[in-house]
Amino acid sequence: MPRGITPRQPAKTGRHEGTRKAAGKKPGALQRLRTGERAHMVRGAAPAKARGKPYNPTAPNRLQDILQRLDTLYPEATCALHHKSAWELVVATILSAQSTDVGVNLVTPVIFKKYPTVQDFAALEPEQLQPDIRSTGFFRNKSKSVVGAAKKVVSDFGGQVPDQMDQLLTLPGVARKTANVVLGTWFKKNEGVVVDTHVHRISRRLELTRNADPKKIEQDLMEILPQDKWTLFSHQIIWHGRKLCIARRPKCAECPLENICHAADKTWSTVEIHKNAK
Ligand code: SF4
Repeated sequence: MPRGITPRQPAKTGRHEGTRKAAGKKPGALQRLRTGERAHMVRGAAPAKARGKPYNPTAPNRLQDILQRLDTLYPEATCALHHKSAWELVVATILSAQSTDVGVNLVTPVIFKKYPTVQDFAALEPEQLQPDIRSTGFFRNKSKSVVGAAKKVVSDFGGQVPDQMDQLLTLPGVARKTANVVLGTWFKKNEGVVVDTHVHRISRRLELTRNADPKKIEQDLMEILPQDKWTLFSHQIIWHGRKLCIARRPKCAECPLENICHAADKTWSTVEIHKNAK
């Protein structure tokens, strides 16, 4: 050893370089982390990067796993809005914006009894519909949309709701979300993924997208999911959002997706938390 160089000695306190780090990252150790004000029990598996394999939340085997678990959880998932025709589904979906399906299902039997056909709706002034749909909120705009859509269906499509995306998008009050619901649920066409508030929240929690704009989220989901699953996936995630993965305090301890979910706002976790997964 060259003269004048003294090797570093471990500190007497035992807190020498590396000691803390190694203890904190010990694979398999059960750790208590703090996120916001809540503490979660976390099985501290070493991060994927540390094992030399970058974590890919949209890897095909992870997606397959998510889809299989959703199939087991919600095999019969479908649209919760009551309807007996494509037109009734258009109306119910327009009314469901910023409202609950339960609330819409209370209103629609009344209006469909009063106005049984699309022609009956087309003959209305929006103001006439307002009192009947008031409880769904935003009733002035929704009345305009429903009556406007009815007039368009009658004048341009012979009274039949079109089954093409570009044609559906010409109806007042119908954007991609409503068009996807109608195409997927009534016409059984997988033209897109319905991105409502649940799909928006849960696809971010599951790290299937990092986007916040519904159009971009839909594009991301369409790129990674098999097309024949688009409609079913939407319904399953919507059901999951109602039953377990609720916006505030999701029921992670009861969730069958728990050990493959790294969401930042989990209420319970056995895997590491990813702070960007939200
Ligand atoms: S573990 Fe929690 S946050 Fe993740 S999907 Fe399940 S309920 Fe949602």
